[in-house]
Amino acid sequence: MKFWEGEGEVMTDWQVAVIDESQTGGWFVLHCRQQFFCSAHGPLWRRDGRERQLEGVLSEQGIGYWQGEPVFVLELSEALAAPLPGGYWKGLRQFLVEGDRPAFRLLGYAAQIATWARQHRFCGGCGVALQPLAGQRAMACPACHVHFYPRLSPSIIVLVTRGDHLLLARSPRFANGMYSTLAGFVEPGESIEACVHREVAEEVAVRVENLRYVTSQSWPFPHSLMLGFHADYAGGEIVPQPEEIVDARWFALDQLPLLPPPGSISRYLIDLYLAHRQGHAEPPLPP
Ligand SMILES: [Zn+2]
Repeated sequence: MKFWEGEGEVMTDWQVAVIDESQTGGWFVLHCRQQFFCSAHGPLWRRDGRERQLEGVLSEQGIGYWQGEPVFVLELSEALAAPLPGGYWKGLRQFLVEGDRPAFRLLGYAAQIATWARQHRFCGGCGVALQPLAGQRAMACPACHVHFYPRLSPSIIVLVTRGDHLLLARSPRFANGMYSTLAGFVEPGESIEACVHREVAEEVAVRVENLRYVTSQSWPFPHSLMLGFHADYAGGEIVPQPEEIVDARWFALDQLPLLPPPGSISRYLIDLYLAHRQGHAEPPLPP
C-alpha cells in the first residue's frame, strides 16, 4: 500500500499494522526507555529465534511492515549493556535529528507502542493482569472488561510573531543558548484554540490573535501529538513564567539565536515564517 503526504512524498517503506506475534520471520527492534539497540546496519534485527533467548522482555508487539516484511518491537525491562552481541543503544531523538524520515516514523511508532505495552500490563481499575485483544492494538481486562488503547496526548506549539520579530523562549531543559517556540499540553475540556491562548498567556503573559493552524507532528516523547500554529501578537509585555521559562524575548528575523534542530515542528514553524517574510521557498514538512 502506498500513501501520499506532504510535498508529493511517497512513503512505501513503512506501514503500520497489527500483527500476531505467532507469525514467524521478519524483523525486530529492541526498545528500552526511548532507546533502540542498533548494530552497524541499524536498529532492525533479523527475527531468527535469538529474540526468544533474550532476558527481561516485558512484551512483544507486531507493529507493521518494513519493505513488506513484518516488524516486531520487544520492550526490555532495562537497557542491559549488550542484550545482543555487536550492538549499542541509540536514542530516538538522534534518528529525528539525522533526518531519516521512514526510520523515525517506524521507531517513533515502535517507541510509543512499546512504552504503552510496558505501562499497561495490569488493569488500573482492579489490578488484574491484562490480555491482548485479538486483532486490535488494545489490552483488555478479563475481570472488568475495560479496553486500554495506546495513549495520545495532544499538545499545541505556536510561533508568535509581530511583523519582522519572533517571540522565542528558553526552557530550563534546553541546550545552552537555544530558543524555541511556545508549547504545552491540551487540558481536559479545552479546545485547541483555547489552549494556544492559555499557554501563551501562562508562559509569557502576552495576548495573541489570528491563530493559523499550520501542520502537526507525531512527537513520540513519549506520546504527544503536536498541533502547530502561527499567531499574531495582540498585546501585553513579556513576563516569563517562573520555573518554566528562563528567558523569552523578541528576536529580529535577521538576528535569530540558536534554534531547534531541523526535523522538529518548532523549527519548521520558524523556517516557514521566515520563508514567507523573505520570499524563499517553503521548507520541507517535518517527519
Ligand atoms: Zn479490571
